[in-house]
Amino acid sequence: MSGSSLSAARRQRDLADLAAGSTVDLLVVGLGVTGAGVALDAAARGLTVAAVDAHDLAFGTSRWSSKLVHGGLRYLAAGHLGLAYRSAAERDVLLRRTAPHLVTALPFVLPLTPSVSRKRAAQTRAGFAAGDALRVAVGTPAAALPRSRTVGAAEVVRLVPAVRRAGLRGGIVQWDGQLVDDARLVVGLARTAAAHGARIVTRCRVEDLHSRGASVRDTLTGERHELRARAVVNATGVWAGGLDPAARLRPSRGTHLVLRAERLRHPGAALIVPVPGERNRFVFALPQADGLIYAGLTDEPVDGPVEDVPTPSPAEIGFLLDVLNTGLDPAITAADVVGAFAGLRPLLAGTARTTAELSRRHEVSTSPGGVTTVIGGKLTTYRSTARAAVDAAVATAGLTAGPCRTHRLPLVGAGSPAQLARVAAPARLVARYGVEAPAVVAGAAGDPALLTPIADGVPVTAAELLWAVRHEGALDESDLLDRRTRVGLVPTDRLLAVPAARAALSATTT
Ligand SMILES: Cc1cc2nc3c(=O)[nH]c(=O)nc-3n(C[C@H](O)[C@H](O)[C@H](O)COP(=O)(O)OP(=O)(O)OC[C@H]3O[C@@H](n4cnc5c(N)ncnc54)[C@H](O)[C@@H]3O)c2cc1C
Repeated sequence: MSGSSLSAARRQRDLADLAAGSTVDLLVVGLGVTGAGVALDAAARGLTVAAVDAHDLAFGTSRWSSKLVHGGLRYLAAGHLGLAYRSAAERDVLLRRTAPHLVTALPFVLPLTPSVSRKRAAQTRAGFAAGDALRVAVGTPAAALPRSRTVGAAEVVRLVPAVRRAGLRGGIVQWDGQLVDDARLVVGLARTAAAHGARIVTRCRVEDLHSRGASVRDTLTGERHELRARAVVNATGVWAGGLDPAARLRPSRGTHLVLRAERLRHPGAALIVPVPGERNRFVFALPQADGLIYAGLTDEPVDGPVEDVPTPSPAEIGFLLDVLNTGLDPAITAADVVGAFAGLRPLLAGTARTTAELSRRHEVSTSPGGVTTVIGGKLTTYRSTARAAVDAAVATAGLTAGPCRTHRLPLVGAGSPAQLARVAAPARLVARYGVEAPAVVAGAAGDPALLTPIADGVPVTAAELLWAVRHEGALDESDLLDRRTRVGLVPTDRLLAVPAARAALSATTT
């Protein structure tokens, strides 16, 4: 485990070594899913790699997603067969090979209510059947991701007890992949890259990027350094234009509400609610492992400066509540909303009329000066996006590198379903740490208090916080509460958890 462990001490050593003039093959800027994926891809090909982020692992868009590993149904509906195939193939890689501990199969149910015409129901069934065909084509067995099916009204109510029952004539159920948490995928990628020798340095802002390295500022000390590299990749998502003026982005904000699962009577499936008056737009209520539901999402073009942490607008919150309530009985109100979060999609600027229509493809470009920039893509397809970026950087700089290996490279903590079922640790920890869960428990050094919830209604344990500081590079309260765990998604829970986060930080520095 030590090779993959990230800590304050390792960060300091790695930054000092880079600042002293050691030259790496590849410098990656940005440690969201794309940059962490690029770092792993390159390190696994035998290149020497440094990857830096101005803030923290998963500070940007990668922690604000819907946390779904999509099979590309939406692309299929839009006629983008290649994109849909790639999405389904990447879902298979994550679900069955590289991150089976982080991705599970989640049922989605579309209730057939009077507002869903028989014609629309038939079209939806046909779309789901095409998704099944794609799943089979990429080799995902029904045992890993069941096939879609039509169910009766009683089954819809069993899956989503808070569903509006008036006129309910049944439902259509479809399955897709769900991450236990998006930020945990990024942490897993960064640690696996570190295990392959990559230097992972957070709190290191790139102020100027060129083909032979970067001028950076250590935001903890304020010191400036020159980092040297033979090739560079700019993977800074919606901020890419700050380092590459040619990067053409038109971000769009997507907002989710956070609800308590009991408010929707603990659904066992995601609820699909059609947006009234729109043909192909839906709001989803997505059950999460820790007794929460994320309900989203919106698609609002954003102009002007890009915020570090985007905020949901009252209009978006109102829209989501209104649409959700067309599918729920009794209705929920603003008082039921315990949190809300928004992320900016790094969409490529195009000519389409709305941001929803802009391509979700990735784009890799290399500037005349030799800087490779990668923008767009999805969390699901980060691996193929990363491979394309590394291929481009290697070709530009004339580096010698092995072939891409990430399709068969398990992330730290990964194990087969049989191995995961045998792990001797609480199920909640196995779902987050996989085969490393017993090591998280061992970090509690026999103190049972460290394995109980840190506060009333907050299931995270102090053992997880200690693990995050010792092995996942968490440096402060925000790293612990907003990214290594997601307690911060419910602000009242976050307040309760602050003392435990402080205790974990001081326990590891004394
Ligand atoms: C609301 C929403 C829902 C989504 N849902 C899904 C989903 O369910 N499934 C899916 O597959 N995809 C989903 N996506 C898409 C997916 O989340 C993004 O495509 C992906 O996270 C982009 O990752 P990234 O690494 O490119 O960017 P980011 O995660 O934003 O990473 C960029 C990083 O660069 C760093 N940085 C910026 N400037 C500098 C600098 N000067 N120096 C150093 N570091 C810098 C930032 O701190 C940041 O950490 C969703 C997107 C949104 C917005």
